[in-house]
Amino acid sequence: MTCVFPAHTYGEGPRAHGYWQTTAEMPDFPRAEGEITCDVAVIGAGFTGLSAALHLAEAGQDVRVFEAETPAWGASGRNGGFCCLGGSAASDTMLRKMHGEPARREYRQSEAEAVRFTRALIDAHGIVPDIHSDGETVLAHTPKAAAGFAERAARIKADYGVTPRFIPGSELTQMGMKGPFYAALTTPLGVALNPFKYTLGLADAARRAGARIYAHSRVTSISQTRGFTLATPQARITARRLIVATNGYSSDDLPGWMRARYIPTQSNAIVTRPLTEDELAAQGWTTRQMCYDDRFFLHYFRLMPDNRMLFGMRGGLFSSPGFDARMHRTIRRHFEAMFPAWAHVETPYSWNGLLSLAPDLTPYAGPIPDMPGAFTGLSYHGNGVAMASYAGGILADLAMDRTPRTLYPEIMRKPPRKWPLGRFRRAMLWPPYALATLTGG
Ligand SMILES: Cc1cc2nc3c(=O)[nH]c(=O)nc-3n(C[C@H](O)[C@H](O)[C@H](O)COP(=O)(O)OP(=O)(O)OC[C@H]3O[C@@H](n4cnc5c(N)ncnc54)[C@H](O)[C@@H]3O)c2cc1C
Repeated sequence: MTCVFPAHTYGEGPRAHGYWQTTAEMPDFPRAEGEITCDVAVIGAGFTGLSAALHLAEAGQDVRVFEAETPAWGASGRNGGFCCLGGSAASDTMLRKMHGEPARREYRQSEAEAVRFTRALIDAHGIVPDIHSDGETVLAHTPKAAAGFAERAARIKADYGVTPRFIPGSELTQMGMKGPFYAALTTPLGVALNPFKYTLGLADAARRAGARIYAHSRVTSISQTRGFTLATPQARITARRLIVATNGYSSDDLPGWMRARYIPTQSNAIVTRPLTEDELAAQGWTTRQMCYDDRFFLHYFRLMPDNRMLFGMRGGLFSSPGFDARMHRTIRRHFEAMFPAWAHVETPYSWNGLLSLAPDLTPYAGPIPDMPGAFTGLSYHGNGVAMASYAGGILADLAMDRTPRTLYPEIMRKPPRKWPLGRFRRAMLWPPYALATLTGG
């Protein structure tokens, strides 16, 4: 299997000091063994694969999920838990230029639908992922950014049909948002959640609906004759339909079409020990809103129900135990600069994971062009809690030859082009990363 990062990235090292896996027990999942025949085989047990499996099982399909490690092992069990608008990293101007205004608008509508879809899944299946936050709050880190919030609010209202709340810099302290910020804008859509509990909740719902989920069952080959034949170390699987849901953990040859159509990129997060009421007061940060600043490479942070602070930012371009340690020092530095009163507070949890970027900076959910009967959903650009769950629903419908029950925007139907530079394509990210380092972002 051909992967873009070194083996370290795909091992236990980057998640060894993760927080989420300490918050819930991993249920038992069997290994795939022997001959297995099913309607739909799903590769990958994150949001995309499990949402697809749940919807397929509910429709009566015999669906099997094959996960290389355990459900929630990938980005779905490592993220910041911002169930919010997003999925594309393209600006409105880029979307308009590449796809036209009607397609841009439709895509923005699908972002709001994805958030509602995910919340409905959580409620319908009784998943309890420690929800908090009334929508998302963006904080201006410069006066210029604050001045742009009026126009941003107007765009949000036009695109998503909700009215954002502007909080001027003079009121941030009384809102419990004291920090190096000049204003805030809250969009009342989305919630913060524990992504590990949410993923395991999806797995549980999928199993209750009849899906079978196999752990430690890495798919090592895919071939297609009339249907699909998959191999894992101990099983041979025959399926009518296939869904590849491996996103940032994809391999360039599984299947070959994936080659260079995504760039895996690291994101990093830390979690503090529970903060005391005095420590919260000393920093002036008491809000439970999920927040991010509006830098190009943004910081995301939220005070969780147990008074631990989660803080995340982009990861590095390289991956090894040494680079992980260096990245931990970098993220600590950014955390202490934003919250100086917490410079003494330990962060026992620190981890990273892979998300995926597409050349057009938009997500894809649809057929794998040269493999009739195979589908994939990928590249949510660091915003997959809602969008990957939503894509999973679309993939389930497509795999059953049904028109998707949800809005299926034109932009998400366009298969990703290839990145230049083949397996060395990570080099494409050097210029923006170097610029971010130089400008402190
Ligand atoms: C640190 C971090 C923070 C983030 N924060 C946020 C956030 O706050 N909000 C947000 O919306 N998004 C966030 N994201 C992005 C989000 O986590 C992802 O977009 C989303 O989890 C993608 O889900 P997925 O199911 O497509 O992929 P994944 O969850 O990555 O699942 C892919 C799975 O495929 C498995 N796999 C790979 N190859 C094989 C194989 N050959 N056989 C079997 N299994 C295989 C992997 O083991 C993995 O479990 C963050 C990501 C990271 C890394």
